[in-house]
Amino acid sequence: MSLPLTGKRALVTGSSHGVGLAAAHLFAAQGAEVVLHGNANMADADKAVQDIGPAALGAVQADLSRPGGGRELYDAALHLASGRLDIIVNNAGIHPASPLDASDAEWEAVWALTLQVNLMAMADICRAAIPEMAASGGGSIINIASRAGYRGEDRNHMAYAASKGAVLALTKTIARQWGANGIYAYALAPGWIDTRMGPQHEADRARAKAEIPIGDLAQPEEIAAMCAFLASGACRSATGSCIDINGASYVR
Ligand code: NAD
Repeated sequence: MSLPLTGKRALVTGSSHGVGLAAAHLFAAQGAEVVLHGNANMADADKAVQDIGPAALGAVQADLSRPGGGRELYDAALHLASGRLDIIVNNAGIHPASPLDASDAEWEAVWALTLQVNLMAMADICRAAIPEMAASGGGSIINIASRAGYRGEDRNHMAYAASKGAVLALTKTIARQWGANGIYAYALAPGWIDTRMGPQHEADRARAKAEIPIGDLAQPEEIAAMCAFLASGACRSATGSCIDINGASYVR
């Protein structure tokens, strides 16, 4: 019996650790071939390639804070995947603070950086992938947004929330406009995940858990499981939707 992702080739951005690493491992375990991506942490991405084994086609180094970094990443990944990528998981992201009382220069820099990494690089990757996928009969794009994109975020993270709200609109547009070309686009909106981006200190973790009815942060493997399910094509009619993964901490 073939595995659900057998024969598919995937790019997972930000796969040196956290959600992306979990997704890369799960995709490979389900039969896909995977291109990983790292930036400052290439040693971790290269180790993941070793750990995954032959199903890992390699790891690309790309700084998505640099304009053009998304296109360069896509082109290098497409090359490693011998010219066909069926699945893109746009997962790389940052969560820097942008408080109102920051200096003008700091405020502008954090907004620009957040929008570049969380939105523009993703848009550039989608822009590059759509014609390729359309020409090869279709594919799946899974964009990692956030609960913040719907609910809003704390007062120090307006830029993050704004970037993730835009990810939702980007994803819905792709689903509506290229569904006829066999391209399916999904957004995921996690609440707190137990990764380096999530709360680290015990008091912060306890506070976060207290706001979550199931009493726990999501594990990166849970986000990866949803990515794998959607990428399998088992429910392509869900294209254009955003899946909440937040322990019922925000129910819309
Ligand atoms: P993480 O910090 O562990 O991983 C973030 C990934 O993004 C890393 O692999 C990192 O290398 C990559 N990245 C960051 N800046 C980059 C840059 N300039 N160039 C290239 N790559 C860069 O966090 P995570 O929780 O695994 O985050 C994965 C996704 O989930 C992100 O899009 C994040 O916004 C989203 N998310 C996370 C949480 C959470 O609580 N952790 C909640 C909701 C949504």
